Amino acid sequence: MAVVTIERKVLQKNDELAQENRELFARNGTYVINLVSSPGSGKTSLLEKTLAQLKDRIKIAVVEGDVQTDLDAQRVAKFDVPVVQIVTNGGCHLEAKLVQDALSNLRLEGLDLLVIENVGNLVCPAGYDLGEAIKIVVASTTEGDDKPLKYPAMFRNASVLIINKIDLVPYVNCNLAELRENALQINPHLTVFETSCTTGAGIKEWSDWLLAQTGKH
Ligand code: MG
Ligand code: ZN
Repeated sequence: MAVVTIERKVLQKNDELAQENRELFARNGTYVINLVSSPGSGKTSLLEKTLAQLKDRIKIAVVEGDVQTDLDAQRVAKFDVPVVQIVTNGGCHLEAKLVQDALSNLRLEGLDLLVIENVGNLVCPAGYDLGEAIKIVVASTTEGDDKPLKYPAMFRNASVLIINKIDLVPYVNCNLAELRENALQINPHLTVFETSCTTGAGIKEWSDWLLAQTGKH
């Protein structure tokens, strides 16, 4: 029982800091997305493709969350957008406080879109509000079609599902219709995109949708 109480306190404090972040984003007119998935689903590749589509049309910055290394931040920095790396040193999710600290390295004024790439993990990032407008969950076809049933909290708390690596469907044990159906069973309000960072399929549709959400088009 004590564990539950402590966890609740931690989450309550996190929610307060997330609310501070949210108010800060609102004051600056910055639309913020929290990109979540299991490791290896292609979040960073998807982000690269998205930056290629949008970086000359709106002002974008990125916060990269990783357990170790700044490898993903280096990939993103090649697109000439401001990027801050958070290394959690083993921590398996980002928290509102970590994002708040990272924000001191970014200029929010005039920033249209902030992308927070969370640590690859389908469990606890579902419970940690960072102050984002929406969570976007990426599920790749290589993970199979049962992920929404196994990790329902993440799919319930997300507003968007991006089914990535659709070019691999012929080679993996994943039924796209089944994956979509499983996700919508958990959360009927999900907006769903299907993408491939290899063929480019669906990248424009997803990027255009995201651009519209920022209201800066
Ligand atoms: Mg990554
Ligand atoms: Zn965690």
